[in-house]
Amino acid sequence: MLGADLWQTQREILTAVGQHGRVAVKACHAYGKSYAIAIAVLWWLAARRDGIVVTTAPTWLQVEKVIWGEIKSAVLRSVVRDWPVDGVAFTFHVPSKGEHGPLVWDDLHERDAVLDRVSALKRSNPSLIKSNVETLEMMKSGRALNYTGERGENCAVRAMLPLYMGDGGNFERTFCCYGNDVDCTRCGAYGVFNAAYHRIKGGHAED
Ligand code: SF4
Repeated sequence: MLGADLWQTQREILTAVGQHGRVAVKACHAYGKSYAIAIAVLWWLAARRDGIVVTTAPTWLQVEKVIWGEIKSAVLRSVVRDWPVDGVAFTFHVPSKGEHGPLVWDDLHERDAVLDRVSALKRSNPSLIKSNVETLEMMKSGRALNYTGERGENCAVRAMLPLYMGDGGNFERTFCCYGNDVDCTRCGAYGVFNAAYHRIKGGHAED
């Protein structure tokens, strides 16, 4: 189900977990233990309707960044492994003015935490996650307006807007490719910020 690519020792660890009530693994750093633990956690949760797993480590950082990081990566890989794609990019909703609801962050500060999580995913899965960290940083609440403006005046993609075939077969030009009544101050279009990133970096841009 997870499509996990395990090496021999990881297979032995997981086989032991499946066969014994208690398993201890003595090994050096970077041995693949954390990934094996992530697979064991997901197996337990998937195989038991009311399964609960408690993860512990010597420090909170190891729990949150290492073990949970491996769990998130394993889930992500399992989700995309059958897709005809080689990676995932994240973009966010572009709301209309006055729009509220489940797709919209009323305040960009709320989006910052999600951007941090995407950046963390990128760092742990650099080839799988296509969004780049510098662009994600540019989307943060303290900087976003520099690349959108209150009314799209700083937007790098607004000028690239193609003509659309509107009702009645007439060509129309909307305010931007997201429509006429958009709220640029809450624009979540990754492409806007990535275009600005490439404009700033020129030939030194990463992706
Ligand atoms: S809403 Fe449209 S014009 Fe405004 S920043 Fe986003 S893409 Fe640009």
